[in-house]
Amino acid sequence: MSEKTLFQKIADREIPADIVYEDDDALCFRDINPQAPIHLLIVPKKPIVRIAEASPEDQSTLGHLLLTARKVAEQEGFAEDGFRTVINNGRNGGEEVPHLHLHILAGRQMKWPPG
Ligand code: 5GP
Repeated sequence: MSEKTLFQKIADREIPADIVYEDDDALCFRDINPQAPIHLLIVPKKPIVRIAEASPEDQSTLGHLLLTARKVAEQEGFAEDGFRTVINNGRNGGEEVPHLHLHILAGRQMKWPPG
């Protein structure tokens, strides 16, 4: 069996994290190095490596991540003010953790283009 990813270890409570939402398929917790007043990560419990390696069977999981973003934004009270979602993919995308995750950034005005 391949080794667990960092985010699987967080889902399995082997590594502590500030978890704000969980259901059968996804987990949302605060980023350890926040880039905005609110910086959350939403991860699928199924460890899809990255978008570039997702398969058609992942379709409902991928959709679930976005609907979880909506749910968490409402739960945490920043849906109306707005927020940014980011998925880093691969080296040029700035991906550090090879377990797909959706960044949710909120609590300040975002800039465009991103760095
Ligand atoms: P990436 O660069 O792969 O898109 O994002 C990885 C994110 O995971 C980074 O924003 C980083 O701060 C966050 N991160 C890395 N290790 C940990 C950890 O142990 N706990 C938490 N909560 N976040 C982490």
